[in-house]
Amino acid sequence: MSLVLYADPVFADHQMPAGHPECPARNAAAVSALAASPLIARREGASPGEVADVERIHDPDYVAAIEALAEAGGGSLDPDTYVSPRSYAVALDAIGTAVAATEAALAAEGDDPARRAFAAVRPPGHHARPAKGMGFCLFNNVAVAAARARAVHGLDRVCVVDFDVHHGNGTQDAFYRDGGVHFVSIHGRGYYPGTGADDETGEGPGAGTTWNRALPAKTQPPQYQDTFRAAMDSVLAYEPQLILVSAGFDAYIDDPLGNLNLEEEHFHWIGAELRQAADAVCEGRLVALLEGGYDLEQLGNLVAAFVGGVAGS
Ligand SMILES: [Zn+2]
Repeated sequence: MSLVLYADPVFADHQMPAGHPECPARNAAAVSALAASPLIARREGASPGEVADVERIHDPDYVAAIEALAEAGGGSLDPDTYVSPRSYAVALDAIGTAVAATEAALAAEGDDPARRAFAAVRPPGHHARPAKGMGFCLFNNVAVAAARARAVHGLDRVCVVDFDVHHGNGTQDAFYRDGGVHFVSIHGRGYYPGTGADDETGEGPGAGTTWNRALPAKTQPPQYQDTFRAAMDSVLAYEPQLILVSAGFDAYIDDPLGNLNLEEEHFHWIGAELRQAADAVCEGRLVALLEGGYDLEQLGNLVAAFVGGVAGS
């Protein structure tokens, strides 16, 4: 078993102020442990993104404002979230790469390894709301990929599973009233950005299609795994035609921005659970996009463990 890795040095061109945790070095760290991995069937570079895809999720005025800010030399959207001169172009590359990985997964026939993918993109996306970048995120990569899968490929049911330790508020906002995307998030309770209470479950046509579990700080792995199994039950019940994953590695025990207690082996376990769910309901079609994860020394090992689980090693 194997999968396709989407990685490109261009994702390091989104620059941040010195000392910022979401630093360009994360890009190389995330893929370093996969360099010679037999689990990687193929490695693909970045693909250019289309503004029309971005605008399925984001307000055109917001997209134009990010472009203008980058062209003007950059600046900050809030105390955490920065735009550098190349950030607009790189954020579009992240969108294009998420879309390319999703298209390849949907098109995969037979034993084509593209059915499963991991994309080490920057900037991350899951906090980006339709008209507001925040939490290190400019454009919501996973939401754009989900929206395109529905609009262009006619999918009726897409699942987004978010295991970053922070709640994927931007993704939730994009689909809160949309029954065609089931958003599932497990995250730390009371962490940034503060949303994602268990009783946030969707509204209108989306009622019941948002599933949140906010875990207290220092939750131990067995309790985390019980919660993750419940998340997978929710995914299976929805019967998605595609599973997209916001893969954040900041629930790691030593992550500087998290306070849950997962270790390397648990990220392998998470990957395996997701693979089994995708095998059960959507012919294995699963695309994981890098979100957070800030322990630079361990990030590569955590990604490699997760990829091993997804690949079935
Ligand atoms: Zn995070």
